[in-house]
Amino acid sequence: MNIHEYQGKQVLREYGVKVPNGYVAYTVDEAVQAAEKLGTSVNVVKAQIHAGGRGKAGGVKVAKSLDEVRTYADEILGKTLVTHQTGPEGKEVKRLLIEEGCDIQKEYYVGVVLDRATSRVVMMASEEGGTEIEEVAEATPEKIFKEVIDPVVGLTPFQARRLAFNINIPEDLLGKAVKFMSGLYDAFVAKDCSIAEINPLVTTGDGEVLALDAKLNFDDNALYRHKDIQDLRDFEEEDEKEIQASKYDLSYVSLDGNIGCMVNGAGLAMSTMDIIKHYGGDPANFLDVGGGATAEKVTEAFKIILSDKNVKGIFVNIFGGIMKCDVIAEGVVEATKQIGLEIPLVVRLEGTNVDAGKKILDESGLNITTATSMADGAEKIVAAVK
Ligand code: ADP
Ligand code: MG
Repeated sequence: MNIHEYQGKQVLREYGVKVPNGYVAYTVDEAVQAAEKLGTSVNVVKAQIHAGGRGKAGGVKVAKSLDEVRTYADEILGKTLVTHQTGPEGKEVKRLLIEEGCDIQKEYYVGVVLDRATSRVVMMASEEGGTEIEEVAEATPEKIFKEVIDPVVGLTPFQARRLAFNINIPEDLLGKAVKFMSGLYDAFVAKDCSIAEINPLVTTGDGEVLALDAKLNFDDNALYRHKDIQDLRDFEEEDEKEIQASKYDLSYVSLDGNIGCMVNGAGLAMSTMDIIKHYGGDPANFLDVGGGATAEKVTEAFKIILSDKNVKGIFVNIFGGIMKCDVIAEGVVEATKQIGLEIPLVVRLEGTNVDAGKKILDESGLNITTATSMADGAEKIVAAVK
């Protein structure tokens, strides 16, 4: 789950990570009031959307007076920002962060991620802050420094110092940088983050080390133990189909192809997408209905797929282990009864109760093409949507 920058900064504050003062605003008047409350001569008006690259897209403006705060707030609120992370359709700005302007000496990058290769949390840092870290990694990988963190001891002051030193933080600020990094790591672990990225971390004219931006991402599987984080969820930033799916505990990710996929098991779902690609098609989604799905859950899953206007055909690929094929079949029939089915449907069922499942589909009167194997099914659905 993603949260907004201003929320991320609030979380970081709790762990001793320094961030500029600021307030969220939903209207132009609130933006001006926020700036009055801050009482600083320079304020920054920042679009709050779940995507980076706002600065370049005109979503971050420095205001030198209350009038300018009003002008920029008016300009940015309601605007659709298109950044490299929003996709071409962009994201509408509904919230602003009004923050005190910062006297930036230099911008750095610090990020904490889970590294699958080492199965450890890794802190990365670079003196190339403010730009996209992917570009730094591509062009000058030697400018990114990493510390692999032992979960038993956590980030040691020695490691933090080495990172700060490697990215050339001024010597008199090393202590503050170490405190910053420790706080960031503590927040990452305590809140079960999957990403905590500060780009830029800045050093300021008055000798502070601050997070000017904050991107926190949380592991959905751990959200149940963080009520406070759950409350930060902004449904307006999420794909409607994904919200619907999460209500039914379905693993669903929207994609831009036209073949809807209903699969059980993440591995099978991944390989189903691969094989559709292999035969020249494009999946419209990743969907794992899970191991012990009920007919109701399958019905909802099928409805979500059908609600996607880009979907021109559906491929149901089920290996019944814990999941029973007849339950899947019932769900498919029920969903199509409720909303109709006007596009091709290819079904490949194998495993527990496969005969009962096939019988339900046969007797449903639905126009279903059955497949004998995964490859056969993929080929058939790709041909059907072409
Ligand atoms: P994004 O990464 O989405 O473009 P950032 O929050 O990183 O948004 O802001 C972009 C740039 O705007 C920063 O690199 C920094 O130079 C400037 N900036 C952001 N917040 C402030 C602030 N409070 N004071 C001064 N400059 C800021
Ligand atoms: Mg940034």
